[in-house]
Amino acid sequence: MWSKTIAGAALALTIGGLVWFFWPVDDSAPALPDHFRGRVVTPQATIRFYVIKVGYSADVDYRQVIEGGEARRADLPTLVFFIDHPRGKVLIDSGYGRRFQQLRARFPCWLLFKLIRPTVPPEWSLDRQLARIGVRLEDITHIVLTHAHNDHAGGVQDCPRAKVFMPRAEWDYATGNWSAAWHGFIPEQLDGVADRVVFVAYRPHTPYGPFEQSYDLFGDGSIVLVSTPGHTAGSQGVFVNLPSGRRFFLAGDTAWVADNYRRPAPKSRFVRRLGEYDERAVWENLWRIHRLAELAPDITIIPGHDPDVDAHLKHLPEFYQ
Ligand SMILES: [Zn+2]
Repeated sequence: MWSKTIAGAALALTIGGLVWFFWPVDDSAPALPDHFRGRVVTPQATIRFYVIKVGYSADVDYRQVIEGGEARRADLPTLVFFIDHPRGKVLIDSGYGRRFQQLRARFPCWLLFKLIRPTVPPEWSLDRQLARIGVRLEDITHIVLTHAHNDHAGGVQDCPRAKVFMPRAEWDYATGNWSAAWHGFIPEQLDGVADRVVFVAYRPHTPYGPFEQSYDLFGDGSIVLVSTPGHTAGSQGVFVNLPSGRRFFLAGDTAWVADNYRRPAPKSRFVRRLGEYDERAVWENLWRIHRLAELAPDITIIPGHDPDVDAHLKHLPEFYQ
């Protein structure tokens, strides 16, 4: 009797799981603007923009990175960006953080890390690299998180003076959700930082480029955040506009690699269904980044983890200005 009930429940769960896994999502393109909206300002201040590679995911299968991807394996870089601005010392994302080696061993994180094999050479750590240009983690005043996954938010505890900028939805999703630890967050990485978090309040009708909502961090046009939810509940993209006129867009993990937005093509079904918050929203934002590349081809778009894009960037101690 019981064995029949258990077998019936297992069958129902399996069928339900398969239906959920293969259920199609609307993959039509969203309506997109035909021009770059919002005011692009070239800031006058002296600003230096540094790219810092703090680790990598080893030997990742490209068929997970992009649907229909080639049978190729590659090390995917983990990046942090540092902007030395007269109004503050700003990090965009913060890498794995000092406690990562401790935290990674805990269930269920180690399951995820068996798949993505994060590799963090000690000499690449954020504090050691910033020390090369005379900056200490204590000097950091602002951290903007593209999202709060472990490879982006791990360093916030190491920067005790920094205000941490993310939408409220991201904070709630990363810290208040029972399944957060199954979805790439390590909630312990955010312990003790609640009083330093600044919720980015995106207002409607603040379009910037192809994105609908924006937030200018210093009000001078140098660092402009845009709302790109989907990969997580409160993902953000970041425009960096430099005095020379050089412009960057940091896509966060909406796109892991450039082909995600160029084709566009999403991550594998496995990654989307198990790892992403809102698959349709990611798809719309991939189309927006695709349109951004058409509207403003001079902008250097940096996806979350693209080894080929990374290979063409200058890294600290070199910088852009
Ligand atoms: Zn990432």
